[in-house]
Parts: sequence; C-alpha cells; structure tokens
Amino acid sequence: MQNNQEQFDVVVIGGGPAGILAAIRAAKQGANVALLEKNKTLGKKLLLTGKGRCNLTQVRYSNRDFIAKLGKNGRFVFSCLNVFGPAETMAFFEKMGLKTKIERGGRVFPIADRSSKVLGILAAHLLKNKVNLKCNEPVLGFETKKGKIENVILKNKKIGAKNFILCTGGKSYPETGSTGDGFSWAKSLGHKITRPAPALTPIITEEAWVGDAQGLSLKNVALNIFLNNKKKDSRFGEMLFTDNGLSGPIVIDASKRIGELLKQGEVSLEIDLKPALDFQKLDNRLKRDFAANPRRDFKNYLPDLLPKKLINTMIQLVGISPETKLNAITRQQRRKLLHRLKGLKLTAKSLAGFEKAVVTSGGVALKEIDPKTMRSRIIENLFFAGEIIDLDGPTGGYNLQICWSTAWAAGTWAAAGCDRKRFFLDFP
Ligand SMILES: Cc1cc2nc3c(=O)[nH]c(=O)nc-3n(C[C@H](O)[C@H](O)[C@H](O)COP(=O)(O)OP(=O)(O)OC[C@H]3O[C@@H](n4cnc5c(N)ncnc54)[C@H](O)[C@@H]3O)c2cc1C
Repeated sequence: MQNNQEQFDVVVIGGGPAGILAAIRAAKQGANVALLEKNKTLGKKLLLTGKGRCNLTQVRYSNRDFIAKLGKNGRFVFSCLNVFGPAETMAFFEKMGLKTKIERGGRVFPIADRSSKVLGILAAHLLKNKVNLKCNEPVLGFETKKGKIENVILKNKKIGAKNFILCTGGKSYPETGSTGDGFSWAKSLGHKITRPAPALTPIITEEAWVGDAQGLSLKNVALNIFLNNKKKDSRFGEMLFTDNGLSGPIVIDASKRIGELLKQGEVSLEIDLKPALDFQKLDNRLKRDFAANPRRDFKNYLPDLLPKKLINTMIQLVGISPETKLNAITRQQRRKLLHRLKGLKLTAKSLAGFEKAVVTSGGVALKEIDPKTMRSRIIENLFFAGEIIDLDGPTGGYNLQICWSTAWAAGTWAAAGCDRKRFFLDFP
C-alpha cells in the first residue's frame, strides 16, 4: 500500500438510493465509510422517481405477496425484506424526519410530493454519520489479491478497504450515471451476469399515427394485449401517446409481458376507449346520438366521443367522410366506429431501449450472492445492493424497496465484517 493511500473499513461504489443507504447503515454500525459517485451530485435518478415525487415504497401487501409481484426471482429478497421491509422503510424515513403518505394501490410518497426531500434527508444522514463522500469520482476498476479486492482504482489514486459494496445500478436512463459499469467489473471478478435488458419501458408501435396524438394522456382506459390475435393480458388505468408509440403507467407495467410476447409472435394492442360501456350499451348510445342529431356532421360529433388529438385518426380508421351527416352513416359504418372505440388497434414493434427504461432486468446472478447478507459467494469482501442484482419489480415502489432492503443488509454485514464493537443487528 502507498503511504498516501486512503484506507477505509467499507467503500461503497455508486451514490444512488442503494449506495446511499448502504453507506449510512455501515457508518451507523461504526465503520469508517467512503461513498464514491461518478456524478458531481448524488442520486440523479432518485430525483426523477415517481415523476419527481418519489414513490419510495409499496405497503399494500405482506412480504410474501410483495415477493410474488417480483416474479420468479422474488424469493431471493425475502430475508432482506423480513429485516428491512416496507414497514421498516417507512418507519426509518419518518425517524429521519421525512413525513410520508400512502396513495392509491399502497404507493408511498413523501408528503411534500418532492423526491428532493428524500434525497435531502439521505444526504444529511450521510454527513451526520460522517460518511466520507467523494463525488465526481468515477471508479475505473478494482485491484484484487488472493481472491479479495484490495483497492478501487480512481483517476489519480487508489482507495483501499476491508469490504466493498457495489451499487452502480443498471443500464437504464444512462444520462443519470447508470451505465452498467458494475456489470463488467462483477463479470471480471468471476460473477455470472444475467443479460441486462430494458424493463418497464414505453412501447414502440408500427403505426406512425400515434405521433399525431403525442402527449395525449388517457385516463380510465383498458389496454388489451393479443398474441397472434389471441388475448393474453389486459390492464386498466392511465396511458400516454408518445412520438413513436405508447407510454404511461399501464403500458410501462405491461411492458415486461409485451416484451416476452414479442419473442413469440405478432403482438397487437387494443385500447378500449370506453371500458365502462360494453358493445351493446355503446352501440345503443351511438344509435341514440345519431337519431337525436340527424343533420350533424360526423366530424362535429366526434368530440363528444373522443379527445381532439384522436379525431383525425379515427376518421381515417373508420373511413367515414368528415362531412357525412349522422343520419347518413350506415349500420356497417357505425359498427366499424363501435369496434374502433372498443379496440383502437396498434401493433407493438419493440420495447423502447435503455434510454427510456425505468429499470434494467438481469444483472449479477442471484445464486452467486448470499440472500441474507448480500455478500458475494465468489469474492469474500464484496457485497451488492440495488438494481445491479438480477431482480426487478413492477411500478409502484417495488424497485426502490429492493434497493432499501438489499442496501440495509449489505451495509449491515459489510460493517459487521469489520469487527466493529458497535455492531448491532437492531432496527433502525
Ligand atoms: C424515470 C424513473 C422513475 C422511477 N420511479 C420510481 C419510483 O417512483 N419508485 C420506484 O420504486 N422506482 C422507481 N424507479 C426505479 C429506481 O429509480 C431504480 O430502481 C433505483 O434508482 C436503483 O437504485 P440504485 O442505487 O441501485 O442505482 P442508481 O439509482 O442507478 O444509482 C447508481 C449510481 O452509481 C453511479 N455509478 C455508476 N457507475 C459508476 C462508477 N464507475 N463510479 C462511480 N459511480 C458510478 C451512478 O452515477 C449512479 O448515481 C424509477 C426509475 C426511473 C428511470
């Protein structure tokens, strides 16, 4: 070791939610901790969460139901959740001074509706617990000796530690700093990486007309998903048109399923614009309206049924001339309109890429991480937390909870490995 080289008990790499909490927890255990972040500031992605409001956890379900929502890999996080799950997360933040509220579907937000409040409180606790914070400090790699990491390599120096926690996140929204650096290091250290893929993404569609509706948000619609014309899934809620496809909560939530289906065949998406009315009721309504306003132009009637941005598209899709009087519309034309209102059809082309993905699926393979401590089973002084591991969930606060739970474990056990006298497994 060089004389001027800094040495810590624990070095945490990545100043996102997982890295920040892991650093706080390890420092609270008495460890001398450094947190290294390549951006000038911490938590760039955390600030974007929940449309700037930060849906920090999810409290609707028991831990068992929570892991079921994560799919086949969910079981991995069970022990971490049992120590530091949604209830503990809320209590922890409240204790740190963050007032929270529970919204529809068990989504937890700060009362202030600002993610900067969450980041501010976490940053204050890094300082309070004397974490040595090094921003604008990209880690370039590791030095190992006899199967253990000795140092992290920075631009102009190396930093040594007894234990290292890797929290560099996934590859989504790379402008926030999550560029997947940790995957290549973990691989070079002997870990298997399940192929990272964008998850929770907007959908790109074949049809160019979506661009005309760009920015239009539809509330209370149903999205029906078909594989080779067979209905496979559906979602209800809010969605949004983008320049080249669809986005918004129900689309993003369905994207994992759509991605799987795209590997099997042609996937079509039908937006039910009137889910509260079945075919018969909607047809009765059209007939009533047509009879009540026989001399009205079709184009002047459509605003009663549709948002402005969809009117030209609908006119083209149903092939009714805009000036047609309502009493001149044929039964066949009315049925066509009815079917488009109950199923505005689009063809899914692909998922949007990492640039627009809310999370990355894949990552460090779970069987090579101890689920209780988050310690690598390959490198004994390496721990993982957050999105870098092969675990991801739907929208609703699941992904941040994965960060908090795994970071709590990694911070706890990385500090424990330093044999600090103050080590305790309490909460919080
Ligand atoms: C738009 C958007 C909205 C979201 N909303 C929600 C939500 O409301 N609720 C929810 O639960 N989840 C949400 N998520 C997901 C959630 O933000 C992520 O799962 C979470 O941020 C992952 O945390 P992390 O600490 O593992 O990684 P990240 O947040 O990606 O942090 C990793 C950090 O490591 C740093 N880093 C990377 N490489 C290096 C290097 N070489 N050297 C030093 N530092 C490095 C990065 O700069 C970054 O700061 C959202 C995601 C997005 C993109």
